[in-house]
Amino acid sequence: MSDLPGAISLREVGPRDGLQNEAPVPTDAKVALIDALSRTGVSRIEAVSFVHPRAIPQMADADAVWAQVKRADDVRYSALVPNLRGAQRALDAGFAEIEVVLSASDTHNKRNINRSTAESLDDIAGVIDAVHAAGATCQVIVATAWGCPYEGDIPVERVVGVASRAVRDGADSIAFGDTTGMATPTRVEALVGAVRSAHPEIGLNLHFHNTRGTGLANVLAALRLGVSDFDASVGGLGGCPYAPGASGNIASEELVHMVEDMGVATGVDLEAMIEAAGEAERMVGHTLPSQVLRAGPRTRRTPMPDAAGT
Ligand code: ZN
Repeated sequence: MSDLPGAISLREVGPRDGLQNEAPVPTDAKVALIDALSRTGVSRIEAVSFVHPRAIPQMADADAVWAQVKRADDVRYSALVPNLRGAQRALDAGFAEIEVVLSASDTHNKRNINRSTAESLDDIAGVIDAVHAAGATCQVIVATAWGCPYEGDIPVERVVGVASRAVRDGADSIAFGDTTGMATPTRVEALVGAVRSAHPEIGLNLHFHNTRGTGLANVLAALRLGVSDFDASVGGLGGCPYAPGASGNIASEELVHMVEDMGVATGVDLEAMIEAAGEAERMVGHTLPSQVLRAGPRTRRTPMPDAAGT
């Protein structure tokens, strides 16, 4: 597969996207998880989000978490925000990379941020300016890019239109989120192709959920198109808020396990990531969906039973 990128940059989103969809865990457990992830060799970690504590109580201690994290020099940490107020809190906390999120679907955006997509885009223009004025970078994340739990499919033209407005307003990069796992490889090709032809230079980060089992297939489709920035969550931490019991984010160790064997470097120590997934599982107190966490890497051998067969 010589057409694949030689390396990818994995952004670990377990501490934010993952924990946001779990029952609240103590601050020191969150800090321990981020510290464990910082030691895996992962290049980026989405550490916290700055959202209203009434909306997402799981992130109410974002400042305390970030103050206690042992920051590694070779890791880029980011914070996710829904609006200008969140961006200001993230900048005050010292984040140099900010992600501002909106939904391509009006219904989902209204449920999440209480605004239409168009209203959010107007707000985001101001967020980008404020983030740049503080010397930080701003990525615009377009959620429900491959479908909405309320509206169903979102037309590619609408998603590209949202991304185009953000690019015009100065976004440093664009991320597309498959919020409820509705993407398939064909749909990944369609959206990535359309945004590439509209904005050949813009950086693209993809965020897949494995809700319907297509997560890694979508990654492979995107790799073949030359995309090299991906989100994943340790252990597959974080479920799907729209489908109780369903899995959410693709698991970091599954992504690393697959692409490294295909000659795509991640910088991640797979055993260290599996160990962190085990820690995450103990922290939330239930089984996480990662299959590499269960089975171990393909290079791991089962010890031979002794003569008694025990
Ligand atoms: Zn997610």
